Amino acid sequence: MESTKERHAPRPRKPHAPSAFFSTIGMAILIATLFTAWTPNSLFAGNLREQLRTLLTPQTGPDSGFTTPQPKLRIGIVAGHMGNDSGAVCTDENGEVTLTEVDVNYKIASLVRDSLTAKGFQVDLLNEFDTRLNGFRAVALVSIHNDSCEYINEEATGFKVAASLETRDLNRAQRLTACLVDRYGQITGLTFHANSITPDMTEYHAFSEIDPNTITAIIETGFLNLDRQILTEQTDVVAEGITQGILCFINNESVLPTPIP
Ligand SMILES: [Zn+2]
Repeated sequence: MESTKERHAPRPRKPHAPSAFFSTIGMAILIATLFTAWTPNSLFAGNLREQLRTLLTPQTGPDSGFTTPQPKLRIGIVAGHMGNDSGAVCTDENGEVTLTEVDVNYKIASLVRDSLTAKGFQVDLLNEFDTRLNGFRAVALVSIHNDSCEYINEEATGFKVAASLETRDLNRAQRLTACLVDRYGQITGLTFHANSITPDMTEYHAFSEIDPNTITAIIETGFLNLDRQILTEQTDVVAEGITQGILCFINNESVLPTPIP
C-alpha cells in the first residue's frame, strides 16, 4: 500500500547550513573528546572498558543459545515400530485391539519433534527401519518404544533407558542416558527400571547402522498396561520428559550419574 510506504519513509530534511564559526567550534570539541577518549590510560578506564567488554563478549541472554543454533543441530527421533509393525498391543475382553505401541510411540515422537523443532533444531522423525539410519549423523538419536500391554505384576510400571554400546564415545552415550533418566523421571514421575534392560535395548539394531559418532539411546517410556493413562492422556508430559532429557545432553546441563545395572 502506498500510504504505508509513505508513513515509513524518512522525512525530507531541511537543508541546514551551520555557520563556519559554529562548525569549527564543534569540530574542535569533537577532536578534543576523541583525543581524550583514545589516550591509552583513559581508553580502558571505567565505563568505556565496560562498554568494550560488552561489545567483545558474546551475549548470553535467556533467549540465546540453543533456541537459535547456527547452523542447526540435527537430532534424530525414531518412532519405534513405525513403518514396520504394531509393536505391543492392548486388546479388550473380546480380543479387539484397543491400543498399539506404534501409535503411542508415534504420538510421543511427533510431539518431541515439534518441540525440538520449535527450539531451532533440525529434527528427523524416523521409521524403525528407516533407510536414513544408515550412516545417520546427528548430535543425538533417540528411539522411542513402550513396554508390553500384558498385565505382568504391580512392578510392571515405569521406564527404561539404554545407550548404545557400539558408540565411539561411551562417556557421552552415558551422559545422554543419564540426562534422559533424570529429566524423564522428574517430569513424568515414573520410576526408572535399571534392572530390566534387555539386550533388545542395548543391542538395538539402529545402534549398529548409524554413524558411530552419533550418540544414541533407546527409551521405553512406560508400560502400556499400568502406565496407559499417562502415556495416552498426558502424552505431552511424556514427550516433554524426552525433550528435556535431550536438551540436558545437548546443553551440557548438570545431571546425576545413572545407576548402571
Ligand atoms: Zn517396541
